[in-house]
Amino acid sequence: MVVVMQERATEAQVDSVISRLIELGMDVHRSSGATRTVLGVVGAGKVDKEMIEILDGVHEVLRISEPYKRASRSYRPENTIVQIDDVRIGGDEVIVMAGPCSAETEEQCLAAAAAVKHAGAKIFRGGAFKPRSSPYSFQGHGEKGLQMLRTAADAHNLKLVSEVMDVSQIELIAKYCDIFQVGARNMQNYTLLRELGYAKKPVLLKRGLMATIEEWLLSAEYILAGGNNDVILCERGIRTFETATRNTFDISAIPVVKKLSHLPVIADPSHGAGRRDMVAQLARAAVAAGADGLIIEVHNDPDKAWSDGAQSMFPAQFDRLMAELRIIAPAIGRSICLESVARRGWAR
Ligand code: PEP
Ligand code: MN
Repeated sequence: MVVVMQERATEAQVDSVISRLIELGMDVHRSSGATRTVLGVVGAGKVDKEMIEILDGVHEVLRISEPYKRASRSYRPENTIVQIDDVRIGGDEVIVMAGPCSAETEEQCLAAAAAVKHAGAKIFRGGAFKPRSSPYSFQGHGEKGLQMLRTAADAHNLKLVSEVMDVSQIELIAKYCDIFQVGARNMQNYTLLRELGYAKKPVLLKRGLMATIEEWLLSAEYILAGGNNDVILCERGIRTFETATRNTFDISAIPVVKKLSHLPVIADPSHGAGRRDMVAQLARAAVAAGADGLIIEVHNDPDKAWSDGAQSMFPAQFDRLMAELRIIAPAIGRSICLESVARRGWAR
């Protein structure tokens, strides 16, 4: 970090800041210009930026390294690839996860899984534990929902991602799913994140509604710190003053995170847009911006969906989007779902 002293800081104040930093285990390099003294601070000690900022004579403290370590690109320069059998997230291929917001019935899960597999998705999504704004809305079927989702995923040779809301659900969800989803509302549930650090399955960590990119990466750090290296980040839109869309889809977060971190980053244009007539545009933009994958809500009968129907795509819309992505992905040096059922002509 760099400590910039006030223009009128006295020698005694500069000396006292230097002594404090040395006490904290740091090496200090002083440079004094005509008007100011600047201290370059390096070392293995632990220094709280705010504690230095309040010392007498200090004008400003600037951090030059990120507060997260394991999540940062300087810790690991090469991209992390999260691998589940033959599905690799973070490699050349853009991986698409798709399915309904919630598991509703066996038939619905099977129909949605068939539709997304047909279009080229590799991973089935669906919630059995739903974080709803109202306690009176459908909260998910719990274990019964997980069973429906797993059966549907297996019937179509898809991997499965589903949301975990609480530490008490980890063991149960691990029995059914390939990836734990941590929802936007739980991005700062540090007890949950810590526990998932000990889990043996990948974690899809959504960005919180009001979270900065730094806070999001610090949340990833909780999981990595526990020893679980398989973290996938997901941009799903943040809350801003704009009300035209459900959230403001932060497309720039994708290249920013790719630069700051080695972790794969995917995009959720469904929760970003909140309406199905805008999902394809955001999905295309996310892939063009360098997303390693997408998670998209698709329902066999979205007008009757029990949750998030307005933003859930019809299967035909999703099919079309996948065909468009097959043009965009190669244009930026990526591949996408080359083995999709649709491509092999297995359409039903
Ligand atoms: C979901 O994926 O259905 C969901 C609730 O997402 P988020 O946490 O991003 O709102
Ligand atoms: Mn949803």
